[in-house]
Amino acid sequence: MPSEFDLIAQYFTRPAPDGMLGVGDDCALFPVPAGMQVATSKDLLVSGRHFYPDVDPRALGHKSLAVNLSDLGAMGAQPIGCLLGLALPSADAAWLAAFADGFHALAARHGCALIGGDTTRSPQDLVISVTVFGAVAPTRALRRDAARPGDDIWVSGELGAADVAYRLLDGQIPPDATLLAATRRALEWPEPRVALGQALGGIAHAAIDLSDGLVQDLGHILKASAVGARIDYAALPVAAAIAALPEPVRRRAILGGGDVYELCFTAPASARDAVADAARRAGVPVSRIGAIVPEAGIEVREADGRLMEALPGGFDHFGAG
Ligand code: ADP
Ligand code: MG
Repeated sequence: MPSEFDLIAQYFTRPAPDGMLGVGDDCALFPVPAGMQVATSKDLLVSGRHFYPDVDPRALGHKSLAVNLSDLGAMGAQPIGCLLGLALPSADAAWLAAFADGFHALAARHGCALIGGDTTRSPQDLVISVTVFGAVAPTRALRRDAARPGDDIWVSGELGAADVAYRLLDGQIPPDATLLAATRRALEWPEPRVALGQALGGIAHAAIDLSDGLVQDLGHILKASAVGARIDYAALPVAAAIAALPEPVRRRAILGGGDVYELCFTAPASARDAVADAARRAGVPVSRIGAIVPEAGIEVREADGRLMEALPGGFDHFGAG
């Protein structure tokens, strides 16, 4: 097995951006733009929990960073750099090269260079821990506690595909190669909405990324903001690939499906044109799906106006999910 230092040198050392100190010292150094705050977040990915051990390593490298960039997007922050912690059961050169490729390619696209980390051998499973740093002006941060009654509720992109891919791979939906081919990309190659989050700064009130499902994640905004929501089920943007599935499968995927990494955000009704313009600039479609109300709770209305009973919950690592 190559030494820890060989691995770091070969796969994880890249020239640091101008003005930064990257891999190789005790700490990385980066400047913070005047008047900005540092936005920072970490996500852990554990083999067998967050990904299958045999997943394409390039996709895994991409997703390890993507789920973190998604948090920067949901805060409206501009990426600065990231740290990578790896606990590796073994050091397979082809695997590491592909993982690093997927990671660095997404990092380069978002100006979020890998500037440090830690590498160790794991006695058991592969564990990946990424920490991102970004910058955001305090007045433009999209906080969960900022939703106000009367706000529109919006969601970016499309819902449902990642959940269906996950359930196909997990055997909960009978094998269907065509359906898997049409949904798998959403699960394994999520596109973090960093540009959209930044474009919404100063326009949107609250935002969150849909890592655990629409109902659960919107619930976090509602709780933090002490408000409720009315959702129009027919207005939810559904991935075309899952449109023909039985309604209970669709419903669970659309309302409860995690791993989506789209943004759910609220904005005053007076900002509809500004939201549409921000979405155009970011190149991401957005859909207006409901409204924030003073009364607590989430109400979902069917197309015929009926109240939906028993909303599907989201993912909880310590719950039944
Ligand atoms: P220390 O003992 O000071 O923690 P390490 O020997 O763990 O230093 O790491 C040496 C350098 O390599 C540090 O700059 C560290 O940030 C970097 N590094 C270690 N692992 C990784 C990794 N997986 N990705 C990027 N940088 C890493
Ligand atoms: Mg170390």
